[in-house]
This record gives sequence, structure tokens and C-alpha cells, in this order.
Amino acid sequence: FCQSLNKTSSKIKNVKMSNTEQEATKCISRFCERTADGESPFSGFPLCQEHLDEDLQRCENRKADILEKLDKLSCKLGRQSLQLEKQALAIEIQEIADMFDSIQENLQQWKEKLISSVQNVHDGVSDRLEIASESDVCAKDIATVSNSGNMRDLIQLTVSMESWLDAATRKTAEFDQKRAQLRQRQNNNFGIRSVGDVAAGVQHLQNLFDRHLNDVMKTCWLDDGETKPTGMLEQDSEIGDLTSKPTHVAACTNTAGFFGDASGRVVRADSVWHEISQTLPQPCIFVAFENQSADHLLVLSLDGSVRLKCQGESVSGQTAIKGFECDSRRQLLYVGRANLVSVADLSGTLLHTIDGERIKRPFGTVHGMTANSDKLFMLCATTLMCINKDSLLVDSEIRSRVFNCLTSASVGVGLHGGKIILSDAKLVTQGKTRKYKTSVYKICSVSGELICCVNFVSSLLDENRHMCQVSVSNTGFLFLCNLPTLRVLSGYNFESLASTSHSEAPSDLALLQSQIIVTSTGTNVFSSRSKLHCYKFHAECFFVSSRSQRMSFTLMDRRGTSIFEHLLVFTCKLNTSNIFIDSVEFFIEVYTNYTNDPCP
Ligand SMILES: [Zn+2]
Repeated sequence: FCQSLNKTSSKIKNVKMSNTEQEATKCISRFCERTADGESPFSGFPLCQEHLDEDLQRCENRKADILEKLDKLSCKLGRQSLQLEKQALAIEIQEIADMFDSIQENLQQWKEKLISSVQNVHDGVSDRLEIASESDVCAKDIATVSNSGNMRDLIQLTVSMESWLDAATRKTAEFDQKRAQLRQRQNNNFGIRSVGDVAAGVQHLQNLFDRHLNDVMKTCWLDDGETKPTGMLEQDSEIGDLTSKPTHVAACTNTAGFFGDASGRVVRADSVWHEISQTLPQPCIFVAFENQSADHLLVLSLDGSVRLKCQGESVSGQTAIKGFECDSRRQLLYVGRANLVSVADLSGTLLHTIDGERIKRPFGTVHGMTANSDKLFMLCATTLMCINKDSLLVDSEIRSRVFNCLTSASVGVGLHGGKIILSDAKLVTQGKTRKYKTSVYKICSVSGELICCVNFVSSLLDENRHMCQVSVSNTGFLFLCNLPTLRVLSGYNFESLASTSHSEAPSDLALLQSQIIVTSTGTNVFSSRSKLHCYKFHAECFFVSSRSQRMSFTLMDRRGTSIFEHLLVFTCKLNTSNIFIDSVEFFIEVYTNYTNDPCP
């Protein structure tokens, strides 16, 4: 840099010399009348000696300024510690990668361990079945030989069977003993499945993982430092002034091809005789009302600003709706009531009716309904019918002893992987007070066996509305809408993770992309308002900053036999030395886990 400065000044001298030979040129500096002595190294314009010197001085100043900045940038004092820091971070990166490799290895080992454990149980049952069929063959052989009357053949046959018979008897005794131990451990005569919901347990790991690593991001200052929501459920918005009492809600994420006409009715785009006035909002919520109180479904945008009507014979029935589902991909609504399910498009036009005649078997009254992308599940009397959405025929029927325990006319039905979730609310009397008891069951969709069960007792809000609905997100969080709360449970072990209570009673819920939950509230003894509540669901807040603490005490009779366990649930924040209590739920939950009889 200094070399180039020297070059510049020698160049100026050269210019000066050549200038003296020419006709005198004036310095261009404003108000300077002197003759130019050279050209500015910066601008190339002629300047007098004084102004040339100033230019050079400016150059010197700039050099000094740059050198000062360079000195700061070179970080002579801190450079060594930065080098150490860089080294440390490189090691940290390697360590993180190593830790993840180790976790992956550990995970692989767990995968093998869990699968082989379930495989062992499977093989035990399989062996028992084989013994059963082999014994049939043996019995048949004995009968054949006996009939032939050949004693020698009979003796040979019995001798040949002895060894197999001993082994089979021993194996069967072992199998029976294991089953007896298992039943004792489950403490239930209800026919609980031989293994719990292992798949949901593994799925839950993802939530634990996300929760922990979100916490790591925060603790290790890797997040953006912004304050994030601390609860799983955040009340987002409400849609009020509904014309009647809403009972069911369903969300639709694919409304293409449907519009609102000038009269505010949802129509198909190909209905050319309608004057289209607006597009159908996407996503939108379909709201069904209490029987006979409305001849239409209300179609709402998420903020409630767009309100349209969905009309048709499929949606305006005289009997109460027992199940309401929307299939966004097919753009179909399934409305279950009495002894049939109406299949309608988003404009309410009836396309099909699923009744006993159509599926070629009478199914009585529909008590609850749910659906996945291929099947519709209808709970009727003591059977859960799985109906193929394409053929509208019965794929399979699930029977379960749990169905006999359901008392409510309207049962919540949900799906969690290959398991069925049922929720049932009933009125119970505790002393002089009447309360709601909500039971949530998980049953196997193949065998109908119970897998787990939980009960909640909550204060009574409205005797006439004791519906409870259930829905499971694709990440395994279970949402239970029972009076007077909206609860989030772990779909794996039914542990309460979060809940929100208000004076109005939610009757149904719909999940929108697992992130937004819509609940409907009707008029009740405390409130005459009818509205929908929208909640944002923050899965990442699962235990991040607040933990649900359970304090339990056991109520015993005089002989010391425990009657049931009370659990107070309160939410608190924890740090190393203090517990800050955020909230205490105002009611007591009676909690019966699956080791007790779910239907005492
Ligand atoms: Zn000058």
C-alpha cells in the first residue's frame, strides 16, 4: 500500500514537470485563483501545490484510518482464544455426530429387542395353534384305526404318539401358566390383549425426542431466543353468533370446484344455473346443529368471516346426528344418524345412502363414527362395521366385549394406527352430586381386545349434553372433548398432557393438519352463546417448560381396601430449586388405569 502511495507521489511530480512546459492551467479548487501545479491523484483534475498537498494529506489520513481498522480486524489479543473456540466447536460438531451415531445404534438394538419380544409372544400363540391342529389329526387317526378294529395298529399308533403328547402337554402347560401370570399382572378379567400398544409407544418416542431436542436447542442457545408459547393448547379465535346449537364439526382442506351462490348456498362449479358469488374458503369447517334446529350445515371459514349454507336431504334429517366426517380427498361428507349414513358432496347433494339393505346386513342404530382415507367405521349396537369407501360394502366387522360397556347414545370413535379409540360419557352420582364419568378405551382393531382404558370424572354442566368426542393426531396425540374440557392425552398411555376448561361445554372437535383444533360449544346452563373455538396446538410445548404434576392419594374403606385413587393434576414450572405452580384444575379426577376393571 505504501509503495503504491510513493508511486503516486512520483507520478504527481512528473505531471507537475510536464505542466510547467505547457500553458498555465488554473487550479480547479473553488475560489482558488492559483495556477495548477499538477493533477490530483484522485480525480485527475489540475490543482495548485497547496491543494495537491491537501489531497496527499487526505490520502495519508485515509491510509491511517484503514490501518487502524485493519488493526482492529486482525484481533491480535483475542485471536488465540478464537482459535481455541473454533477448535472446541469443531470437536463439539464431531461429538454431536458421534452421539447421534450411538443413539442410532442404540435405537437399532431397541428395535430388534422390541420386535423379537413381540415375535416371541406371537410364536407362542402360533405354537399353541399348531398343537391344537396336530391334536385334531391325532384324534382323527385314532378314530380311523379304532374303527378298523386292528389292535396291533392301535397299539403302534398310541406308542408313536406318546412322545409328542408329553411334549405338547408340557408346552401347553407352560403357555397356560404364562397366560395366567399375564392376566394376573393385568388384573383384569376383561380380555386384555397379550401385548400393549407397543407401536404407539414407539411412536411416542418421536414426541419425547422432539420435546427433548427442542429443549436442547433452547438450553444451548441455538434457538432464535424468541419467547415461544408455553402451553400445548393456545386459544386462537372464536366464531360466534351461530344460528343454533352446534353438535358436530368437520374440517375440509380441499374445496376446489365448490362455490357459494348469490343466496349463500354451497354449489358445485358445474351447476351452471347458479350465479357464483364467492369461492368456498379453504380450509373450511362444516358445522352440524342439534336435530330439527336447522335444515342445513353451516360452512365457515376459519375466521368466521365467510358463512355459507350446505343444504340437501342428506344433511337435514329429523333425527340426531351420531357421526359426522369429511373426506377432503374425495370431497365427501358422511352424516351418520339413526340407522343409516348419508354420503353427500360438499354442496349437500346426496350421492349414496349406506343402510342395512345396501350393505346386505341390518346394523341397527349408529352410535358413533370415524373414518380414515379408505374406510368408514360405524359403531352399531355391539359391532364396529368397517365399510370400504370405494365399494360402500363391509370390509370387516369388529366385535369387542368393550362395546357392551358403552352406555351413551353417542359414542366418540377415533383411530390410532391400527387401534380403535372409544370414548363414552355417562352420568354418575357421587354422594348428592351428579357428575360425568368419561371412559376412554383403546381396543385392537383385529381382535377387539381391550388394550388400555382411562376414566375421568368431571363436574356436571348440562344434563342434556353428555357427548364426548375423541380424535388422534398423526403424531399420536389424543384429543378428548368431554365436559367441560378439551384434553390432550398421550395416545400411547392415555397420560394427561394438557387441558383447557371454560364455562361452555364442547361437544365435538375437528383437527386441521394436527395443528388447529376446532371445538363447538352450544348453549348451556351458564351461557346462552353458541360458538366455535379454535385452538392452536403446539406439540413442541409438550413438557418443555411446564410439567403436569400428579399428587395422588388413595381412598380406602375401613378394612384398608383401596376404593379408588384420587389424583390432583396441576401444572407447574420447574427449575432447580423452586416449583412455580401455574394452575390447579378445580375438579378432582378419578383415575382408574387399565390395571383396574374399567367397568366397575
Ligand atoms: Zn488551488
